[in-house]
Amino acid sequence: MARIVMKFGGSSVADLDRIRNVARHVKREVDAGHQVAVVVSAMAGKTNELVGWVQAMPMVAGASAPLYDAREYDAIVASGEQVTSGLLAIALQSMGVDARSWQGWQIPVKTDNAHAAARILEIDGSELIRRFEMGQVAVVAGFQGISPDNRLATLGRGGSDTSAVAIAAAVKADRCDIYTDVDGVYTTDPRIEPKARRMKKIAFEEMLEMASLGAKVLQVRSVELAMVHKVRTFVRSSFVDPDAPGMGDLIDPPGTLICDEEEIVEQEVVTGIAYAKDEAQISLRRLADRPGVSAAIFGPLADAYINVDMIVQNISEDGSRTDMTFTVPTSDAEKALAVLEGQKQVVGYDVVQSESGLAKVSVIGIGMRSHAGVAATAFKALAEKSINIKAITTSEIKISILIDGAYAELAVRTLHSVYGLDKS
Ligand code: ADP
Ligand code: ASP
Ligand code: MG
Repeated sequence: MARIVMKFGGSSVADLDRIRNVARHVKREVDAGHQVAVVVSAMAGKTNELVGWVQAMPMVAGASAPLYDAREYDAIVASGEQVTSGLLAIALQSMGVDARSWQGWQIPVKTDNAHAAARILEIDGSELIRRFEMGQVAVVAGFQGISPDNRLATLGRGGSDTSAVAIAAAVKADRCDIYTDVDGVYTTDPRIEPKARRMKKIAFEEMLEMASLGAKVLQVRSVELAMVHKVRTFVRSSFVDPDAPGMGDLIDPPGTLICDEEEIVEQEVVTGIAYAKDEAQISLRRLADRPGVSAAIFGPLADAYINVDMIVQNISEDGSRTDMTFTVPTSDAEKALAVLEGQKQVVGYDVVQSESGLAKVSVIGIGMRSHAGVAATAFKALAEKSINIKAITTSEIKISILIDGAYAELAVRTLHSVYGLDKS
């Protein structure tokens, strides 16, 4: 017998038929004698709809940012998961499986006060464990918890992955299975490059980079938690026959295991390509080159909840003036420009230039630590396709390149092929 947490994302619970199909996956594990807890997302598209409703409401009078009360945003957007948890509990009951739905506050999943982007602080797993012992399946609403001020808090988009891994850690589960609409983690988004290959295993560090650079198959925070708490996490598909051969395999189910680097025998130099669209570039020209200038730019941007990504500062020619370029999500560009306008006196720049509709394409691989020339290969391949590079940032295990958004798909496919990721 094993203890398993099963998480089902929005596309896996998109309608009542899919919810019944999910119930069959759960029943398979229950029938095999395992202790099972389930975490569900909202039905596909539901959270977007709820977010849209919030955004369509009048803004808080006089507020600069955020434009609406984040506590009420949470009260609204957390409702999607409540519905699916109840529906799945009913579907399971109708198949003769003892099941009960749970909202975040009932567990409780305690979070911090960062409404709309809350972090889980603590989960009391005792009630879930009691239910395991009763042979009951707990169906937990993902994405939500309860904040110190006793209010619903949500964990940021894609947060049900994090709910699942955190619950798996809290109840010391043997495995956390993240069921989605793909059968594992691929070398790049299979929707963009059909030649992408599924990986049997991927190291935590690489998955962290893939997730934070745009591969939304797992929320970044869920990977961090899995790494810290050593949760055996598999990404696998709910879109297969629940009773197909191998689906109930305890040790090695079909999918991708996220694991320690040491568990991977043949480490490639480059393991994957990620991309993020809808990036905007903002450049401050001829700003004062003195201590405190960066703080005066990025402090107020952070206070306005603007997520700044690539930051490139030039070395000044004469020691008095320099240029600074950074990227933000296109949806935040207007707000960022307003913040910068307010800081003009303090920062002392000449002009601000901005461009939206850009894309960031990233090459990821632990093997880069010990291999030279990986970046040069990318630049040459993009040049051959006449794709212009606007900015570059690197770390030990990744290279990120900012390009015109229209070339995102072409760049992903080009890089995927130049590093031989198409070939098995
Ligand atoms: P869920 O609703 O189950 O949470 P998501 O839409 O959040 O699912 O994540 C799954 C999607 O992630 C896939 O449909 C796929 O298009 C996308 N994706 C992006 N990069 C990758 C990758 N490297 N491997 C697998 N899927 C990826
Ligand atoms: N329903 C939430 C979202 O769409 C959480 C999740 O699906 O993980 O972001
Ligand atoms: Mg997701």
